Amino acid sequence: MQADNSFSNGDEPPSGNSSQSLKEFHSAGRGYWHDVSDSDWNDWKWQLKHRITTVEQLQKFLPTLIPEEFAGAKLANTKLALAITPYFFNLIDPADENCPIRLQVIPKLAESHTAPWEMSDPVGEDSHSPVPGLVHRYPDRVLFLVTDRCAAYCRYCTRSRLVSNATGYDFHPEFDKQIAYIAAHPEIRDVLLSGGDPLLLSDDKLENLLSRLRAISHVEFLRIGSRIPTFLPQRITPELCAMLKKFHPLFMSVHSNHPRELTTEVRDALGRLADAGIPLGNQSVLLKYVNDDATVMKALVQKLLMCRVKPYYLYQCDLISGSAHLRASVRQGIEIMQQLRGHTTGYAVPQYVIDAPGGGGKVPVNPEYVLSHNADRVVLRNYEGKIFEYPEATDGKPCGRPPEKIEESQLV
Ligand code: SF4
Repeated sequence: MQADNSFSNGDEPPSGNSSQSLKEFHSAGRGYWHDVSDSDWNDWKWQLKHRITTVEQLQKFLPTLIPEEFAGAKLANTKLALAITPYFFNLIDPADENCPIRLQVIPKLAESHTAPWEMSDPVGEDSHSPVPGLVHRYPDRVLFLVTDRCAAYCRYCTRSRLVSNATGYDFHPEFDKQIAYIAAHPEIRDVLLSGGDPLLLSDDKLENLLSRLRAISHVEFLRIGSRIPTFLPQRITPELCAMLKKFHPLFMSVHSNHPRELTTEVRDALGRLADAGIPLGNQSVLLKYVNDDATVMKALVQKLLMCRVKPYYLYQCDLISGSAHLRASVRQGIEIMQQLRGHTTGYAVPQYVIDAPGGGGKVPVNPEYVLSHNADRVVLRNYEGKIFEYPEATDGKPCGRPPEKIEESQLV
């Protein structure tokens, strides 16, 4: 196959970082794979079969590979496998070693440095697992791990202990046992399928699993967590969508971190899911040099709305071993939230959360908008920094006293 690293087919992602250029939709293009037939390129199985999985392929397709990445890729298969679909690979800017797409999927040597506070299971899933592959941490819902495989592997993955099976975790979920546990626990009304990526299952297997879950009368609500729409939009076929729509209410949480991931292909795939009546939410992870910037984040959330996706969570990056080089600070996260709330559509504003280390669950983290609160009143700060008072209700009746003038000194 002839090398074409120039992205000169008119499909290249925009290089500018202005809000408007970030929000433009582009195709990922064909890049190196320009002579592949349309039917192969648009076939999700072809994409999986032709993933970049070795350091030699990386060197071939990315001549600008830096020594830190070369060394990281050499070690990857002992920690978290290297895999990138040709489609997603085309979004990498070969001229930029800090390309936000590149940073997410190309391993670096820094992954082998582990800080004392980092963990292999940072949110305590294994300790809340009554049967293999099922996490029951919150009272009324469970996380159902379907597979340990993904279309591509994110270098900051919270479940890198098990996904890709590079560390010998030996993940063997038994659907019968997982389903039996759910059937025996009437308090479980919500099941989230995740993994690995559930959309890597064949349509038939996924349909069988969803049917068995739907047959449990107390399961009210099904969710699928998937990064496939951004790594492998070819998988979102009309047949898959037609099958999924039989299981409503079925929601889907997709995962994108940077506006450049939202290509025309992804927009079309998300549109097919939305047309099947599947409400879509997005989960992002706050990542250093990827999206720790209010302009980038605002472009991402606005572009998600254009793709009919509600930005759902912004996660502080978990304390996964070897992820320090990708972790942005909580302070940056709060500042970004401050620059979203009130400055753009409320639907576009995700909830920023920290998944409490060790298994405490998601804790919302918000900028300080309530400056003081007592029996009589709440003092509030709006998005412009202006201060307002709201009289507190007592015993169901509004406070009768008139608002007092608020002095700055009262607010500390
Ligand atoms: S797609 Fe999800 S489970 Fe798979 S590597 Fe990325 S973050 Fe982990």
